[in-house]
Amino acid sequence: MDQKNIFLKILKKEIKADIIYKDKIVTAFKDIKPKAPVHILIIPNTLIISANDINEENKNILTHIFTTAIKIAKKTGIDEKGYRLILNCNKDGGQEIPYLHLHLLGGKYLGDIL
Ligand code: 5GP
Repeated sequence: MDQKNIFLKILKKEIKADIIYKDKIVTAFKDIKPKAPVHILIIPNTLIISANDINEENKNILTHIFTTAIKIAKKTGIDEKGYRLILNCNKDGGQEIPYLHLHLLGGKYLGDIL
């Protein structure tokens, strides 16, 4: 399996994923190896490789990705206690899959990272 296209394959329904939300702009699904009780990935429906590819033309997609994450946080009931949103970029940032994705993590105390 070509790991590089894995999120594209999820969008095309070529491989299975637990999709919890979809609209015209974004898709959200459960991470296959959850690092917290709630671990959701939110991706744009059109391919953007990384944060470096955000520009004037497509920047509104980021707002939609973030507002979707917040809606899901509220729906899953983690909003009051809190959660973490992570967007890794490229090798040093820990981005494994070259398809822009926002991690929504919560449901437990996540500790300090900085
Ligand atoms: P990154 O390190 O690129 O920011 O995060 C990639 C995330 O994608 C990881 O948390 C990893 O567990 C998740 N992931 C990798 N392959 C799959 C898959 O086939 N299905 C799902 N649902 N998540 C995946």
